[in-house]
Amino acid sequence: MSTIYGPVLSWRLGRSLGIDVVPPPKTCTFDCVYCQLGRTLRKVSGPVEGQVRREELLRDMRRTLDLLDPRSIDYVTFSGSGEPTLNLKLGDMIEDLRNLVDKPVAVLTNSSLVDNEVVRRSLAKADLVVAKLDAPNQSLLEDINRPAKGILHKNIVDGLVKVRGEVHGELALQIMFIESNASHAVNANCEAVEGLIRLVQEIEPDEVQINTPTRPPSEKDVFPLKPNRMEEITRRFRASVEHTRIVSRYEEKEKVSPKWLGYNKVEEEILGLIQRRPCRLGDIAMSLNLPRNVVETHLMELKKRGKVTVVKYGEEDYFKT
Ligand code: SF4
Repeated sequence: MSTIYGPVLSWRLGRSLGIDVVPPPKTCTFDCVYCQLGRTLRKVSGPVEGQVRREELLRDMRRTLDLLDPRSIDYVTFSGSGEPTLNLKLGDMIEDLRNLVDKPVAVLTNSSLVDNEVVRRSLAKADLVVAKLDAPNQSLLEDINRPAKGILHKNIVDGLVKVRGEVHGELALQIMFIESNASHAVNANCEAVEGLIRLVQEIEPDEVQINTPTRPPSEKDVFPLKPNRMEEITRRFRASVEHTRIVSRYEEKEKVSPKWLGYNKVEEEILGLIQRRPCRLGDIAMSLNLPRNVVETHLMELKKRGKVTVVKYGEEDYFKT
């Protein structure tokens, strides 16, 4: 699925898509141990005044659309460095973007606020809601997602059941499975997996995405699952859940669209992307619809000028500002 990244609560796209703009730390209701954005410095329990305004979003999206071939866009996605549902104007923004782009709109959420009716009304306007559910109970929610005070697992599950009934598009649950060398609780053991399966049976989403970290996590002793454990978990879900697609990250094939309109601000685009999250070369090429060798050339140049650094995670290099 190729996406344009939509507005995120905790930073503004800013002038000319970001080269001069240093995003502030993420604002989130969670502080997940595997978060690729590092620790949450601004952890909040509920909606806050939006740092992204409708008019700014529309202006920046118009600029971005001028640079892209509309045929290369499958979805416009709200995600990024923070939790999009913290912005109570999200529903209006979804409508704005659908009118502007005439493409389906997706929202990635951590599900922490789905017990809030206003949040659910916003989500109901999306064509696809991808909602995080990593924990089968309150105890693991606290260990893995480290939520702000007052966020309860029961409310999340009840809220997701309601979202299921209210959303006009599809609901996907995304589960991030992690391993650790004993210093962190994990959700990949049999008991946790069975607990998550029971929740999926209760919520009845259209899809479950079985995931594991592929970017450097917030906590250094948190690890991705080995492929064979991912396969076992995927098989267990498929055997237990009817009428729900089960997709596993390890089964996905990279899809690169070659449709890129000539664009002479590639460096700005690359920097704008990796300011939000560390990315591999392939991720950048796929997100920007650019050939790998073009991205590589720009990255090497940016690295030489000290604008980009490389961090190793597992066997892979990740580029960050
Ligand atoms: S992974 Fe998502 S929900 Fe978790 S702390 Fe990071 S931004 Fe927030």
